[in-house]
Order: sequence, then C-alpha cells, then structure tokens
Amino acid sequence: MSGLIVGGGIVGLTTALMLHRSGIEVTVYEEALKIKELGVGLNLLPHSVKHLIGLGLQAKLDKNAIRTGELRFFCKKGKSIWREPRGLEAGYEVPQYSIHRGRLQALLKGEVAKRIGKGAFVTDRRLVRFESDDKGATAIFQTSAGETVTESGEFLIGADGINSVVRQQLYPDQGDPQFAGLMLWRGATVSDPFLSSNTMIMAGHNDQKVVIYPINNPDESGKQLINWVAEFRVPLDTIRRDDWNNEGHLEEFADRFVDWKFDWLDISNLFQHAGKIYKFPMVDRDPVKRWSFDRVTLAGDAAHAMYPNGSNGASQGILDAVSLERQLSVHENVAAAFEKYEEERLPPTSRLVLDNRKTGPERVLQLVEERCDGRCGDEHVCVAQAELGEIAQAYKKLAGFDKSSVNRNVSE
Ligand SMILES: Cc1cc2nc3c(=O)[nH]c(=O)nc-3n(C[C@H](O)[C@H](O)[C@H](O)COP(=O)(O)OP(=O)(O)OC[C@H]3O[C@@H](n4cnc5c(N)ncnc54)[C@H](O)[C@@H]3O)c2cc1C
Repeated sequence: MSGLIVGGGIVGLTTALMLHRSGIEVTVYEEALKIKELGVGLNLLPHSVKHLIGLGLQAKLDKNAIRTGELRFFCKKGKSIWREPRGLEAGYEVPQYSIHRGRLQALLKGEVAKRIGKGAFVTDRRLVRFESDDKGATAIFQTSAGETVTESGEFLIGADGINSVVRQQLYPDQGDPQFAGLMLWRGATVSDPFLSSNTMIMAGHNDQKVVIYPINNPDESGKQLINWVAEFRVPLDTIRRDDWNNEGHLEEFADRFVDWKFDWLDISNLFQHAGKIYKFPMVDRDPVKRWSFDRVTLAGDAAHAMYPNGSNGASQGILDAVSLERQLSVHENVAAAFEKYEEERLPPTSRLVLDNRKTGPERVLQLVEERCDGRCGDEHVCVAQAELGEIAQAYKKLAGFDKSSVNRNVSE
C-alpha cells in the first residue's frame, strides 16, 4: 500500500514514520521551500510520548527537549494557586517533554530521510486541490516557480494544519477559524532557569495570562531557552492574521505586563531579550461530523485545530498517527480503515476542542480571580485544593492522559 501525506509538520512526519514501520509506504509533500526551525515551544504529553518512544526516539527527545517535571498556576501577583508534578515526577512511566517546535520538526524530518529515504519528503509542493475515487487519490500541487505537479497514491492524508486546503475542499463553506478574542505573543529567550528548572507556569486569568516554560536543559553556562506566551483579550473584530510566522512587536503587549513581578522570574526581561516575537490569535475550528471521505482523510490541526489551553494540540495529532497506523495495518480496504480511524479519533478530539473553549485546565486561574477577596496569604486558599485537583484530573481524563490509562498502555 502507498499513499500521500500533505503537510510536513509534526503530524505529517510522525504519521509517515508510523506507517512506514508497518510497511505502508508514503511520501510527504510540504509547501515550504526549506524546513527552517520555525515557531517556539510546544508540549508533548505522556500519552503521545510513549508512542514517540515506541518509534525509538527517546534518546533524541532527551537530547533536544527537557523533561517537564512540574506544572504550577499563579495569580497575576505571583501568589501560588496550584502545583502538580508532571511526567516521571508524577509517576508516569514515560516523561512529558517541552521542546522547540522547529527542533522537533527537524528531528522528525531527519528520521523520515534516514528510515524511508530522502525522496520521502518533498518540499516546494503547495497543495491546491485533490481528486479521489474508489481506487486512489491525486494531489495537484503548485511549486514556487508556478509549475503544476500531480502525484497519485492509494490514499491521501491531509495533515496541512489549521488552514488546511484539504479540509477547505471538503468543507468549502467552513469560513475562517473561530476567534476567541485573545491575541497571543510568543517568543523564546535564553535566560537563567527559574523554580525547579523544569517547571511550566501559567499566571493570570481569562483576560490576561502568561505561560512560561523551559524547552531545553541548562547548557554549560547554566542558561536555558525559556518559551513564553503573553496573551490578553482584544475586541472580537480585531484584524488578525492566522499565520504562525506573523511577527509581533514588544510595544504591542509588554506594557500590559509591567506590574506582573514574580520574585523568581523577571518576565519583562524575557520579553525584551527574545530572539524573535511571533503574534498569533487564539483560534480553532468548529468540530465537523466527518474527516474521512473514501480514500481521503484529515489529521492533526487540519482535523481538530484547538485552542492551546491544556497544551494538547501536537499530542492529539500524534495520537491520530497512531490510530491511522493501527487501522491501515488491519484493514486492506483504505476507506474502511479511514472510517474506523475517524470513529476512534473524531469524538474525543471534538470534545476536547469544545472543552478548550472553556479554557480547559486553566480555568483554575479564573476561579481564583473571581473568588479571592484579597485575604489569602502567600498561597491562595480561596479555592479548595480538592476542587482544583478535580479540575486537573477531569481534564487529564478527557484528553486521555490520566496516569492509569497511560501506564496501563505502556505496560501492555
Ligand atoms: C510555522 C509554524 C510554527 C508553529 N509554531 C508553533 C509554536 O510555536 N507553538 C505551538 O504550540 N504550535 C506551533 N505551531 C502549530 C503546531 O505545530 C501544531 O498545532 C501541532 O503541532 C499540530 O501539527 P500539524 O502537523 O497538524 O500542523 P502544523 O504544525 O501546522 O503543520 C502543517 C504543515 O503543513 C504545511 N502546509 C500547509 N498548507 C499546505 C499546503 N497547501 N500544501 C502543502 N503543505 C502545506 C505547513 O507548512 C506545515 O508544515 C506552528 C505551526 C507552524 C506551521
């Protein structure tokens, strides 16, 4: 069996590696001319990590990422709300990682070249449309020189991200992504470690927040690359670009955070010394009823773009790849495999897209913002720890990374 994957992001590349492992040959077609290490940080939660480890990638992840050991929530004044161990420190049998998105993509691309062959990843191929029938699928690409190139295979997987051309052809009336009314500025800054040096923090509330975490281990000089996101609410009719490479500027957001001072981290300093600042709106797409149409299906952000609340987007896409491998290995009929894949993955990811609109596990920040009357001491006690713990646990179950599920499957 052989097929086409459109989009050489995290999900397209992981899917290629997994299908190849099961003897299914694929070629990945990517619109970029060259893969540069674009983006900043993302998280790989244990339920997806165990599958990357299954692909033999643990040593490479350990070299390029950091094992996240703790998640902490703070109010905007830096008082602690909630802390929980993560990954191995929480008793999972596999780590949770934080990593530079471009570094992860380069790592996966290197593995595709090594395991499948250099020809398995083709750049400068922007999909413009596809055709399919009961025998196969054909992709029509445009190159940067304006040439049209046509490729055919037994199936086509659209892993072409939030602005997927494959999805647009399947759903021509879907319109623009849904905008939450929050604008996000992202960057990564070489800086001193903070807290446990493997802590991820979120601080603020629904209308203004920072998310900060290291994405590599300290270097010889003790410095780390610290990923940060600064976000605040803007009018819903704000003109925006849903483009991951859109540049942001310090003067657009930094002033809003000048009073946000934490004893253990100077966030203004992080903002000021970032390599490059990106600006991206908080957008997702409404869940759809179908991803699979005979020999064509969707995966990753093309299938279920979600708000980053819960730090789940990349992990869910990797779980799509796992399911695609499983179904294409057991069903000779591609359409049947894609239907089963959709049955397995569409309902849970749709629930997650909708839950993330209610801010996912980060709703604990807003609870404190609303309920605290200012009498709390060094730590917030205005919301019972049991209530905060329930929210954290419920989200893990919903997203499929509660400890018992992950560990049970690792041992199997
Ligand atoms: C440049 C970039 C930077 C990002 N930075 C971050 C970040 O800092 N933090 C974060 O959490 N998430 C980031 N993301 C999103 C994150 O990678 C995804 O949410 C998640 O990993 C799911 O991955 P995906 O492979 O489904 O989608 P993506 O990672 O979006 O990958 C889609 C791929 O498809 C390609 N593509 C798109 N349209 C076409 C087309 N018509 N023909 C051929 N190829 C096409 C894109 O160039 C891209 O390589 C970024 C995405 C991109 C593309």
